[in-house]
Amino acid sequence: MKKKFIIAGNWKMNKTTSESISFIKELNTKLGRIKNNINFENLEILIFPPYTSLFPLKDISSPVSIGAQNIFYEDKGAFTGEISPAMIKEIAGYVLIGHSERRELFGEKDENINKKIKASFNADLIPVLCVGETLSERESGNTFKKIERQLSADLDGITPEQIDKLYIAYEPIWAIGTGKTATPELAQEVHAFIKEKIESITGSQYDRPILYGGSVKPDNCKNLLGEKDINGVLIGGASLKVDSFFDIIENSLELVE
Ligand code: PEP
Repeated sequence: MKKKFIIAGNWKMNKTTSESISFIKELNTKLGRIKNNINFENLEILIFPPYTSLFPLKDISSPVSIGAQNIFYEDKGAFTGEISPAMIKEIAGYVLIGHSERRELFGEKDENINKKIKASFNADLIPVLCVGETLSERESGNTFKKIERQLSADLDGITPEQIDKLYIAYEPIWAIGTGKTATPELAQEVHAFIKEKIESITGSQYDRPILYGGSVKPDNCKNLLGEKDINGVLIGGASLKVDSFFDIIENSLELVE
């Protein structure tokens, strides 16, 4: 099945500015060698580097887009250490919202995630909302309940027009950084559920990409992307090395429309 999709890398708290620059230059060189085989209209490559690398990466000409890993929901003010959506908008077009590490390690609640999504839209940023279940939620048969609860709370008050611009990443927490990947069938089942849920909220067809994240590697990306409703991957560990990130891109090319 040929389609349009997104390959995104979340670098988390990794890479100094100079390491980020070297990565993108090396990736550009590798992409340049296969550029005739890539239709960038239908394959979007996206990196979420640390904040400190956003500005220098913006100035390097590359087919790779960049986004921030987080934002605060206020426009400006006395919020030491925080970064506003408008500050990101000058540099990048995307922002990750509600990654499970933010939820679990930094206590981010759905209420704040909802405010961050609204603030992203106000600043004309595209939010990439991350949702997913823990291992115990999966084992107790509560996966769909959890996803449904997160989507309802995180998207509360977001208009159908805005939802149509949003990207969603399904990231089962038990698969993040563990080497345990959801099988393509299992991921597809949740992706279909997310699409259905979003369509029931907006009342219209949802055609935005739904990304899968959780131990995506060069050897499993193609099978995952081969599923009907998996229209992108969000990669942590394997996005940190140019070779593995590039191999994921190259191994998926056959599927690009
Ligand atoms: C992530 O943190 O978004 C992620 C998917 O990590 P990994 O690919 O390392 O499992």
